[in-house]
Amino acid sequence: MARHDRRKKSSDNEVYDEPEPEAGSEPGPPPACWLCLRPLGEKVDRYHPVPKSRGGRATVAVHPICRRTIETVFTNAELARSAGVRETLADHPEIVRFLAWVAEKAPDFDAPTAPRRKR
Ligand SMILES: [Zn+2]
Repeated sequence: MARHDRRKKSSDNEVYDEPEPEAGSEPGPPPACWLCLRPLGEKVDRYHPVPKSRGGRATVAVHPICRRTIETVFTNAELARSAGVRETLADHPEIVRFLAWVAEKAPDFDAPTAPRRKR
């Protein structure tokens, strides 16, 4: 007997009351990357838009390649100044280029990003 899916979703009848999923039981990976807004792949990185050392507590889900790009382009001080506002980061010319480039890649696409020494 085939398994019967009794959790059919009727699109205009989303009435189930569940508490906001917060920390604790993870309901599953969030659908999109914080930085590039593409769907997330298998590998999801948790990223602190505001560095922990600067008091940042919230994390966002990003592609590993997106995280590395952010870390390559911005210093911790710059990240702290951006205050976790995505638009501020997405406005950076290098991020603009990255977003345009990565837009057509598969969600699980990963590539070594050129390490840039910055100090
Ligand atoms: Zn991404």
